[in-house]
Amino acid sequence: MRTGFVTVAGRPNVGKSSLVNRMVGTKVTITSPRPNTTRHRIRGVLHRPDAQVVFVDTPGLHRPRTALGRRLNDAAAASLDDVELVVALVDATAAIGPGDRLVLQRALGAAPGPGEPPGVLVAVNKIDRAGRGQVLERLASAAATVEELAGEAGETWRQEGVEYFPVSALTGTGVDELVRAVVARLPDGPPYYPEGVVSDTPEALQVAELVREQLLRRVREELPHSIACRVTEWEWPLVRCEILVERASQKAIVIGAGGEVLKAVGAAVRAQLDPGVYLDLVVRVEKHWQQRHDVLDRLGY
Ligand code: GDP
Ligand code: MG
Repeated sequence: MRTGFVTVAGRPNVGKSSLVNRMVGTKVTITSPRPNTTRHRIRGVLHRPDAQVVFVDTPGLHRPRTALGRRLNDAAAASLDDVELVVALVDATAAIGPGDRLVLQRALGAAPGPGEPPGVLVAVNKIDRAGRGQVLERLASAAATVEELAGEAGETWRQEGVEYFPVSALTGTGVDELVRAVVARLPDGPPYYPEGVVSDTPEALQVAELVREQLLRRVREELPHSIACRVTEWEWPLVRCEILVERASQKAIVIGAGGEVLKAVGAAVRAQLDPGVYLDLVVRVEKHWQQRHDVLDRLGY
């Protein structure tokens, strides 16, 4: 059986989490149109008769501005170590930019020597929103960038074996081909997880993430970065989840007029949990939590 760890890397918002969910076939990680939605390294496990692939979803690689941002970026960079393969994701709807270059550079740089893992597969995502010509151009310019980066490093072996895949995490187009290529690159070995286990995220963290996902869908532009969620009590059927914001004005927005936002969030999350759960959402103001290492530690970032 082929088994291994595969990191999905890319700048914020290219669709890493969506692709991991699609490849695993289950929602194991939350997604949203906001950049920097993913704050934890989340593993999603694909089980097949011939293979077990552990996909590692990561925060996007970016230039950080806060203590939280630095931690996310470090986690993303560290997740390129100790894996068998890297899937570097770029966006078909935007030209290859400095952010993508950085991702490709890190991905290529992860291999310690010629022929040693991790190999790199480049996927051009969101092809459902791009024209054919645009997709071809992205594939070509991704390949040109890879060659350029390997050349600049004076290590042309780094570009060898890199393959390119047009995909849509949204519709699933091209994803089977990508997964086949991933599996073909993995070594033989024993499975890492028992059958049926699709994620190693603790349930409490999954619930906190689902709450944050629903909040991200309902609050205005400036708020998403200010929100953090943490389950503080798990006494089934009672699950209490704390929502941290940075200012009293944000607290009011998260609660909504007459509590309507919180109610809608609670209902949408409950619909994804086992029936019978009593979900209690508590909003708390914690000034500048993004800059406070003690709070970041408590949140597990
Ligand atoms: P991440 O930050 O890289 O993990 O990106 P997400 O998976 O959270 O996706 C960011 C946004 O892009 C979300 O609104 C997704 O629905 C959207 N998205 C992801 N993949 C695709 C795709 O293949 N096509 C389209 N049209 N949208 C996508
Ligand atoms: Mg993500």
